[in-house]
Amino acid sequence: MITRFTFVALYLALASGFSIASPDVTSFDSTRAFEHDFYVQSNLEFTLLHELAHAVIELNDIPVLGGQEQAADQIALMLLIMADDSHNKDINPVVLNKLLAISGEWMIEWKNEKKDHQPVYWDTHPLAIQRFYEVTCLIYGSNPDKLESLRKESMLPVERAWDCDIEFEQTRRALAWLVTKVSDYKFNKSWKLIKSKDSKQLFSGRIKVVWIQPNNQEDQRIYTKLKTFNHLASVLTKLNDLLNLKNYITIYLEPFCRTPDAWWDGTKNNITVCYDLIKDFEKNSLLLPDLVKQLKSGIRN
Ligand SMILES: [Zn+2]
Repeated sequence: MITRFTFVALYLALASGFSIASPDVTSFDSTRAFEHDFYVQSNLEFTLLHELAHAVIELNDIPVLGGQEQAADQIALMLLIMADDSHNKDINPVVLNKLLAISGEWMIEWKNEKKDHQPVYWDTHPLAIQRFYEVTCLIYGSNPDKLESLRKESMLPVERAWDCDIEFEQTRRALAWLVTKVSDYKFNKSWKLIKSKDSKQLFSGRIKVVWIQPNNQEDQRIYTKLKTFNHLASVLTKLNDLLNLKNYITIYLEPFCRTPDAWWDGTKNNITVCYDLIKDFEKNSLLLPDLVKQLKSGIRN
């Protein structure tokens, strides 16, 4: 179990962002990670990529070692990191803020898990706090020289940080292999995505989104907000260009689940994302800065 001291140190590290960072990232401003809509959109993007990773694994019979939940997390995170090639030379502040928003969400969820009930150790998903370190390690591993501050600020203990570049390399290689199995593309030597064959016309499947009309004012607000997230629409367009899908995958944005969850249903080729999950992201985006302020002023409960 994580100690209270470590827990507080991690929050403070998250809060201070890169304020005492190495010279490489002094200009990086981490406050955007906790901007309300950016935070919600980043976590929703991660959720969609995670569920789509399940879909791609199952629909293509991809063999998985190490558990499908962890594989789905790693595919989603690596797609976010590889969305541009800046990890080769510099830090992309938008991607970095996105990953901080995602790791921040895991930290808050861990706190809620511990407060509300015993963490579920038998679950197929890693614990929220493990997912926090998983995200942080992949970010750090993508560019350890420039992101030395993550390690220095105790977001990542040295024992884990040590091998994060290897973890990143292994995950990137696995993603590169996966891309050759499920698309006409491959990564070249400088990790740019290039077209390597021309078989898209054989695959009629696409990802489509079904908007379920809400029936109350609060859900209508969420519906309207989600419709403004143009970035997510462009991510889905890019994935439709990239992936060779035999089947249609339908994403339902669902106001009536009554649980803060999202899941892939392989029997129907559906992904459901509940409005309650979006509401949780909204609540947590507000919770994190306050919590950090409390911790900074010495109030720890
Ligand atoms: Zn999952």
